[in-house]
Amino acid sequence: MIISNNMHIIEKEGVIYLKFKALDNIDFVNMAVSTRLGGVTKGKELGTLNLGTSTGDSMENIVKNYEIFSKAAGFTVENIVTTKQTHGTNIMVASLKDAGKGVYKERDYDSIDAIVTSEKNLPIAVHSADCIPVTIVDVKNKAVGSAHCGWRGTFDNLASLTYKKMKELFGTEDAICLIGPGICRACYEVSEDLYLQFLSKFDFKDAIIEENNKFYLDLPLINKHILEKEGLKNIIISDLCTCCNKEHLYSHRGLGPKRGIMATITEIREC
Ligand SMILES: [Zn+2]
Repeated sequence: MIISNNMHIIEKEGVIYLKFKALDNIDFVNMAVSTRLGGVTKGKELGTLNLGTSTGDSMENIVKNYEIFSKAAGFTVENIVTTKQTHGTNIMVASLKDAGKGVYKERDYDSIDAIVTSEKNLPIAVHSADCIPVTIVDVKNKAVGSAHCGWRGTFDNLASLTYKKMKELFGTEDAICLIGPGICRACYEVSEDLYLQFLSKFDFKDAIIEENNKFYLDLPLINKHILEKEGLKNIIISDLCTCCNKEHLYSHRGLGPKRGIMATITEIREC
């Protein structure tokens, strides 16, 4: 089973999902990360709680899985608005007119890798299967943002761009940053070219690593450093690696291209 020191592992009606302990006393926001467990999708790598539309799964299964996860974790399912991820840097400012896009309604956008909002009862969903979901919670102004940071999004500073967008729109200064389950550095060996590309842009020697002529990126830690450069201090990295936990979490490296997709969903509550 999954073991974590900084996330709760919650089982409800057969669904298992994760919540950051750091948000335990933050009442206005509900944030949860799905796992593979408790859904209706069949398939060795795709099963069971697949929440991604670009996976070869049926829309019927995906909608059912959103309903199962949302019922367990307490999200307003009919309003969920999802990204349309292309490893780009477009950020959507979601309002109630976007409610349901990506699950119950067609999306009217084709490249969105981060969403920010201050709207209540409008859950925002970011997808991942090794990539790093970065969520920013502004307690003072009651606003949230969530970004999909694979290596491209990380390289392009998407976490910082998302924070800056919140700063511009909501006056966000201080925030709690949650770096969700993604691939750990031991599981993320990369080419020398990619290693050098990162090294030429960032001076994060503890996160861009060469060992015995092998090259590794610590994407969660690079994202933490990117947020630290913005002056943010309250940053928590999940201790769960998707690839190390591929029986329970979706991992592209661990399971291959037939894998499903997890969602990190964040909703501002009416309170
Ligand atoms: Zn790992």
